[in-house]
Amino acid sequence: CGIVGYIGWRDAAPVIVEGLKNLEYRGYDSFGVATGTDSITVAKRKGRISEQAECVAGCSGTRGIGHTRWATHGLPDDINAHPHTDCTGQFAIVHNGIIENYAELRRELEGRGHRFSSQTDSEVIAHLIEESWQGDFSAAVRSILPQLEGSYAILALCAGSDEIIAARERSPLVIGLGDDEFFASSDATPIVSYTRDILILEDGDMAVIRRGSLEVENGGVATVRQTTYVDYDIE
Ligand code: GLU
Repeated sequence: CGIVGYIGWRDAAPVIVEGLKNLEYRGYDSFGVATGTDSITVAKRKGRISEQAECVAGCSGTRGIGHTRWATHGLPDDINAHPHTDCTGQFAIVHNGIIENYAELRRELEGRGHRFSSQTDSEVIAHLIEESWQGDFSAAVRSILPQLEGSYAILALCAGSDEIIAARERSPLVIGLGDDEFFASSDATPIVSYTRDILILEDGDMAVIRRGSLEVENGGVATVRQTTYVDYDIE
């Protein structure tokens, strides 16, 4: 029930795994990580991170997303763990929250030929992005958000794109602004050892995060969110 993303110059997987451990207090039944640039590698497991952190050893690269899951739709198992991908493996997403209209969206997607691998509500997000992709990752994500009913904090990766896309609706999501690097997380806990400059996304916000730039928009309109300096220590 937490998410962590990283884009910058560090090896992403260890940063994400450490970050997910810092979110352990929220509780979870499974976890997973996706990294990559030209192609995406996903590693995910039921159970505790600390007991099987080595499963992310194959996840290389300086850009990635991770998740601890508190199952709402679909059993806690390896397949239902996030990240989830589309049919082609080009897109990977992590999601906290509940997509209330997922059954209807899934039926429609299956009717158009999409094959699902999990029982989660979240997987529809990856398939919707795949379907709306016309070469522009942020445009694809922007166009599907209005179809999602419910609550979400989402991070998405696309093979061949240099972006991480973040979006939130009634589920917390913050971005840490480092030196030539960005962190995304459900709360500031995993971020403060790297940077104290935190931007809190609001409902309806979508952020396009590249190694050297961060753009926030709401309802398709560019918007500015103030950065907060976190000067307290998080135990
Ligand atoms: N509803 C999603 C699932 O069951 C996400 C749960 C969560 O927030 O961890 O997979």
